[in-house]
Amino acid sequence: MHLASDVVVIGGGIIGSAAAFFIANDPGFDGKITVIEKDNTYKGSSTTLSAASIRQQFSTPENIEISLFGIDFLRKVGEHLALRDGSQSDVDLDIGLQEKGYLLLAGSAGENVLRSNNAIQKALGADISLLSPKQLDDRFPWLNCADLSLGSLGNHGEGWFDAYSLLQLFRAKNKELGVDYINDEVVGLKSDGHKVQSAILKTNQVIAGKTFINAAGPSASNIASMAKINLPVESRKRCVFVFHCRDKIESCPLVVDNSGVYFRPEGEHFICGVSPDETNDPASCDYEVDYSLFDETIWPTLAHRVPVFESIKQVNAWAGHYAYNLLDQNAILGTHPQIDNLYFANGFSGHGLQQAPAVGRALSELILHGQYRSLDLSIFGFTRIFENTPVKEQNVI
Ligand SMILES: Cc1cc2nc3c(=O)[nH]c(=O)nc-3n(C[C@H](O)[C@H](O)[C@H](O)COP(=O)(O)OP(=O)(O)OC[C@H]3O[C@@H](n4cnc5c(N)ncnc54)[C@H](O)[C@@H]3O)c2cc1C
Repeated sequence: MHLASDVVVIGGGIIGSAAAFFIANDPGFDGKITVIEKDNTYKGSSTTLSAASIRQQFSTPENIEISLFGIDFLRKVGEHLALRDGSQSDVDLDIGLQEKGYLLLAGSAGENVLRSNNAIQKALGADISLLSPKQLDDRFPWLNCADLSLGSLGNHGEGWFDAYSLLQLFRAKNKELGVDYINDEVVGLKSDGHKVQSAILKTNQVIAGKTFINAAGPSASNIASMAKINLPVESRKRCVFVFHCRDKIESCPLVVDNSGVYFRPEGEHFICGVSPDETNDPASCDYEVDYSLFDETIWPTLAHRVPVFESIKQVNAWAGHYAYNLLDQNAILGTHPQIDNLYFANGFSGHGLQQAPAVGRALSELILHGQYRSLDLSIFGFTRIFENTPVKEQNVI
């Protein structure tokens, strides 16, 4: 069967769904949008397997501004994504946003980086405070500050939420706006010179389009290769562990230890994780949890940083995948010079969920107006990949 659409979005995770929303919502757009999603359960998608947190504590101004827009969008999610028929209750529109902040910790080696990042964050309006070891100790008496030189705490605008709920709200709103979701897999792209003409689906259907968006998350380079483009994005496994602590610790933000280990509350429990050592971080598509990471790296670090974590019990774990940008672990946005009508929104590594609203808006501007209007994200274009000039984000987690 042959189908046709003005915009064909490949991948209906948070990035594809946010892009579809902002395009559909543009008053000047009256075309058809189709999202092709191979798994409507999303059980293997990055979006649903993520730690679902948002921060302004980046060093790159664009990343900070992206998250400032992100938090504003999340706070007003009910205004943006409520259905017109009023059928949703407040509970349906609740994404469980908890603005409990990020706390980034530094020893003497990382102190200057926190200070210079703080200056950039503050200049852009992010509400982040630097805390001395004494101030950290007063505020978080459960924290071992003996080997710390500085902490950086988000007072507002940082925290976590429920990613699956947000995704479902986008999907429902998109359907109301006339976006079609097709449950199928893109297995090929048919191109003619500088344009993709159609996507070939696993069920043998063919969908012709004027504009295509690669929003396939960790599978993004497969889609790129269908258009003979080499995208430096790899699927890399990241494990999240859930643990229980009998002792209560008060007012716990998302803490990023100076070792790179992070933890935060999740209901009655906590979640935690760490990126593996670079020498032990191969491309991977499996979902097997690497328990040695918890036993050998995470638990000793947690017990050192929070002494009551000495006696925690690990109660659950899962593995998901980063779409890991091999050059600089930042987004790759926009078109590649080889193909005019295939837009990329990939390589977000560990921060794509919070970036989805700003990236969705950015893609809609690029596609419908030919340029960024609200926030110039051209630093994330392909040029830096060709020139091998990474965006040097200091706070990659
Ligand atoms: C453990 C972990 C922790 C994270 N923590 C955070 C965090 O705290 N904050 C944050 O901002 N980000 C975090 N991230 C990153 C974030 O989850 C991702 O950057 C974001 O979800 C990417 O969204 P996406 O839509 O690009 O990818 P996905 O959610 O993976 O969606 C892509 C979709 O494309 C579909 N697809 C793929 N190939 C095809 C095809 N050929 N045809 C049709 N459909 C296809 C897939 O089924 C999938 O649903 C984390 C990620 C992980 C793994």
